[in-house]
Amino acid sequence: MSTFKAPKGTYDLTPPDSAKYLAVREAISAPLKNSGYGYIETPGFEDVALFSRGVGESTDIVSKEMYTLTTKGGSELALRPEGTASVLRAALEANLHKLGNLPVKLWYSGSYYRYERPQKGRYRHFSQVGAEAIGAEDPALDAELIILADQAYRTLGLQNFRILLNSLGDKECRPVYRDALQEFLRELDLDEDTRRRIDLNPLRVLDDKRPEVQKQLVGAPVLRDYLCDACKAYHEEVRDLLTAAGVVYEDDEKLVRGLDYYTRTTFEFVHDGLGSQSAVGGGGRYDGLSEMIGGPALPSVGWALGVDRTVLALEAEGIELELPSSTSVFAVPLGEEARRVLFAKVTELRRAGVAADFAFGGRGLKGAMKSANRSGARFTVVAGERDLAEGVVQLKDMESGEQQAVALDALVAEVQQKLA
Ligand code: ATP
Ligand code: MG
Repeated sequence: MSTFKAPKGTYDLTPPDSAKYLAVREAISAPLKNSGYGYIETPGFEDVALFSRGVGESTDIVSKEMYTLTTKGGSELALRPEGTASVLRAALEANLHKLGNLPVKLWYSGSYYRYERPQKGRYRHFSQVGAEAIGAEDPALDAELIILADQAYRTLGLQNFRILLNSLGDKECRPVYRDALQEFLRELDLDEDTRRRIDLNPLRVLDDKRPEVQKQLVGAPVLRDYLCDACKAYHEEVRDLLTAAGVVYEDDEKLVRGLDYYTRTTFEFVHDGLGSQSAVGGGGRYDGLSEMIGGPALPSVGWALGVDRTVLALEAEGIELELPSSTSVFAVPLGEEARRVLFAKVTELRRAGVAADFAFGGRGLKGAMKSANRSGARFTVVAGERDLAEGVVQLKDMESGEQQAVALDALVAEVQQKLA
């Protein structure tokens, strides 16, 4: 223990658990890399206005959860609370949309920051893998993204997740619905805060988790009845494509999501083993966002999956990922000369592509063998003075317990052959 602890609402990833997080990031990004998505990385902070305009002043993320700071130079910045606005900003700045190759498909992986009330599955620093497809209005693109997220979760072995799907309409039909909903909500018995929300972002009231609010929402106008023909047809096509791909989803008329920029398709992945932090990921179409941040019209769609909650979901289902041991050979020298010889062998093994590690710190045989065991290495190589005098090392197979003397010069080839 030092004097310091990780800040409230944060936690460290340390071995061996950290390997699980890497594996989850890899599992989520693999289907994207395999589907034409290029990797993008953006700064951890941005001009605060990018989020207030892009994500929306009326959202919890911007109004309550953002970490903002003023730099010594007087710039107003915010630690990024989400990825989409930054990725779109970066794509526009690099003119990726002008290269004549739409949609621009991008994936990212990184840390996000929200000043939240910490609880299980809800942290102030968390990590997401996300995907954005920028500049095309095509229901197949919405379907592609949902299918790829589904594939990612399935390859991890997850089963108890559900996909909730809705359409939020577009700039034609949503305002009409919004008016009707506001009229309905104004008649209800609601607190001050929620009343204000009716004016700012009435759809969000539907998302209120409190039973006393939910009770009053029975009979509220539903967006589906207000969708224009174009939105209806678009949504039908997304649904058909998902069904054809064998992806099971649930229509959820109340699904509105916390960000202002969504239009048409919205979806959320929820996991039933996570209690109240049940959303493992979410996304949707955001046709108006580019213009909101000063860009051209670029209809787009994307999602972000939470790595932390995905790991919790794996734990909730009792899934142990098969993580191959990262070390294949562990070298244990006995004595000073052996230390030099085996250290050189370890270097040689590594250069030959064999994952190898070494008993550092000159501890005795017992301690070194403990490290060898803990490393999960398939083989240990032990050598003392007598072995070296004979030009051999002792190669021990940790699975079978068999041990044999191998000529020093033949060690690398022998190990490679055994591992193949
Ligand atoms: P919630 O409703 O639980 O607050 P959200 O709608 O704010 O979630 P998004 O903005 O859609 O979440 O972010 C996508 C994913 O990122 C979430 O589904 C979740 O897995 C993860 N996530 C969001 N906020 C947090 C957080 N504070 N801690 C851990 N993971 C988070
Ligand atoms: Mg949230």
